[in-house]
Amino acid sequence: MNKQEIVQLVNEFPLVAELMSLKPLSWFNPNVTSYAEALPYVELTEVDVKETSDRLARFASFLCRVFPETIASKGIIESPLLAISTMQIALSERYETKLLGKMMIKLDAQLPISGSIKARGGIHEVLQHAERLALNAGILKLDDDYSKLDSDVCRAFFNQYKIAVGSTGNLGLSIGIIGACLGFRVSVHMSADARQWKKDRLRSHGVNVVEYEFDYSIAVERGRIEAEADPCCHFVDDENSTSLFLGYAVAGERLKQQLIEQEVVVDTKHPLFVYLPCGVGGGPGGIAFGLKQAFGDNVHCIFAEPTQSPCMLLGVHTGLHDKIAVQDLGIDNITAADGLAVGRASGFVGKAMERMIDGYITISDDEMYRLLGMMYDTEGLKLEPSALAGVPGIVHVLNNEAYLERMGLKGLLANATHVVWATGGGMVPEVEMTQYLQQARV
Ligand SMILES: *Cc1c(COP(=O)(O)O)cnc(C)c1O
Repeated sequence: MNKQEIVQLVNEFPLVAELMSLKPLSWFNPNVTSYAEALPYVELTEVDVKETSDRLARFASFLCRVFPETIASKGIIESPLLAISTMQIALSERYETKLLGKMMIKLDAQLPISGSIKARGGIHEVLQHAERLALNAGILKLDDDYSKLDSDVCRAFFNQYKIAVGSTGNLGLSIGIIGACLGFRVSVHMSADARQWKKDRLRSHGVNVVEYEFDYSIAVERGRIEAEADPCCHFVDDENSTSLFLGYAVAGERLKQQLIEQEVVVDTKHPLFVYLPCGVGGGPGGIAFGLKQAFGDNVHCIFAEPTQSPCMLLGVHTGLHDKIAVQDLGIDNITAADGLAVGRASGFVGKAMERMIDGYITISDDEMYRLLGMMYDTEGLKLEPSALAGVPGIVHVLNNEAYLERMGLKGLLANATHVVWATGGGMVPEVEMTQYLQQARV
């Protein structure tokens, strides 16, 4: 984009100037529709999500066997859902706002195998790929006990194949760990901001880590090029993959079950708000899709991005989707929030999901750190900065009269549940966590 085009864009969309000022803000999309009206644009259905859920169930015996930490959940990769009432009180003081309703946290930081939201989509895509190869080769049948894949014969079979992925860290970690464990040869193309311990961890699993001095989009592009040159290589396309998206979407039915077990009601009189940190969009987009299937119009999804990387907000607000990057506006895409340092949103997710996402908020790195400290002090939870991005969402929602009025939510707020999706931090080494907590205190 040239200077003149940007001036034009700012004239047409004053919010773009506010994004450029890096001020934390929110935008509630006036063009959201009912789930029924929005569904055809996704081009995926409830049947696709059901098939994904069934596939994960087929792999449960395998996962139990190779990842003993999944035995307690019978090989199902799922995270806890907790009320955070002490944090809620601290937040209402910090933001000087009465926070009506019940705040909860969905602890994807504690997902088994890779300690982040990427244990949903990333692991599903590798399992789906492995299943397809094994079925085609006749070494697996759909009604087999999949724990048989934990064998030298099967690992030797998968070792003929490669997997490549571009990542800021967590996706690489998930794909690398599950891929290597099945026997695949995995290359992870890491952006410059990826943390050293994530690269070290992957190398210890025998994964080929390729490092770049560039950001996420370039790392993904290089991964794509490597894979295209080799017919035996499967490229996990974080920007466009429906397999990743569906892996995330299964979270909807799982959350519904957990809320039922905890006797938390969601219906027309008891709305549910869910705050989802957003990088390229597949994780939050997929989860939002699953949530809409589970709760219909009673769930309200809000995406959260760093002030330095508001790519989805920018793409959806301007309608330009992946045709614009935050760098076009001089926003640097440099943030401590791993997984959210994405300058250009997925074209697929924004276009598919924009009618189902009520709003978008941005948050500064400083605020993520401060909330990280508060979450530790009030609830004893250890998270990485990205996982806190959605926390102020409740304040933006409750203070936005126009939005609440338009959606008919005003009288219902005392009955509402607010779920903060805490997307990562489970594998952060103790030394790094200490540094995060120190950063929170400055
Ligand atoms: C990847 C990631 C996200 C966002 O997922 P996208 O699919 O990139 O939008 C959020 N939080 C963490 C910790 C992540 O690793």
